[in-house]
Amino acid sequence: MLDTSLIGKASDILRNGGIVVFPTETVYGIGASAYNDKAIRRIFSIKSRPHNNPLIVHVSTLEQVNLITTNIPKPVKNLMATFWPGPLTIILPRSSRISHLVTGNLTTVAVRMPDHPIASMLIRSLGEPIAAPSANRSGRPSPTNIEHVRRELGEDVDMVLDGGMCRIGLESTVIDMSTDIPCILRSGAITKNMIQSTIGQITLHNPSHEIIESKSPGMQYRHYAPNFRIIPVPPNTWVQTMHKWRNSNKHIGILCHQTAVKDESVSFYRHIPGTHEEYAKGLFAAFLDAETEHIDILLVETVPEQGVGIAIMDRIRRAQTYDK
Ligand code: AMP
Ligand code: MG
Repeated sequence: MLDTSLIGKASDILRNGGIVVFPTETVYGIGASAYNDKAIRRIFSIKSRPHNNPLIVHVSTLEQVNLITTNIPKPVKNLMATFWPGPLTIILPRSSRISHLVTGNLTTVAVRMPDHPIASMLIRSLGEPIAAPSANRSGRPSPTNIEHVRRELGEDVDMVLDGGMCRIGLESTVIDMSTDIPCILRSGAITKNMIQSTIGQITLHNPSHEIIESKSPGMQYRHYAPNFRIIPVPPNTWVQTMHKWRNSNKHIGILCHQTAVKDESVSFYRHIPGTHEEYAKGLFAAFLDAETEHIDILLVETVPEQGVGIAIMDRIRRAQTYDK
């Protein structure tokens, strides 16, 4: 486990306007004090993140949520009681305590209480919320281990806290609770059914892509894409797919899950058996490991769009947008 004196050092860096990469249960975050505009600007610049793509504010107490929002309705309190700390980001009306830089000029703020000992110790030690997007350059897969953080961001940050591999491996579920009809803007490990069983009567709205993109600016950008082409492969089509690609002049990689594809002659081979949660955990790490093998195409096994499978398929589809 991490030497706790490093937490004190990291919170001093944040207090002085520095940037620290830290682990959460979802993916690694690149953090600054949510109250320091200069440091927030540096995050946007390091990531090359468009300024209208707001940051998630990470808190360790409900008092901090009260400070940065104006009103917490009963259903939101229920969500917080059920899923926090955990991988659920909630969009609420912002207070004037939080700057326009963090919220990308929106009237709302995204807030989450992470469920990771290093993340919560760091926020507690700073005594202020930490604004932290994922620790990747804009448009790239999010890092879920320290090797990928270092490869992605190099020397551009002031400190990196090593928490090993992230437990979930996909970014948090984002739910907009600032309007009458709650709406999931990004899928994650906390599923629509889980949310519905908590906030009951309220109709959850499944918006079209256009609505999501207008409500959550980050979703309109190219996302999660490694530097090769991704081809999704339904599990029952591996045989035809391998027949098609095995003797092509492309460098092929395989990422399989329920099917142990028998072809280790390819340039990259990874089999992640087990539950869909285990597949989710290793997905981005596999993308980033495959990059070092200089492949042209990664064949990626699909999963049914149920439970966390919705988030897995969302990330695979978005990662496909790379055009080689
Ligand atoms: P990241 O922290 O890189 O995982 O990205 C945060 C995601 O949350 C992006 O897709 C943002 O567009 C979204 N987000 C952050 N703040 C808001 C907000 N106030 N309203 C809607 N979406 C937001
Ligand atoms: Mg991100």
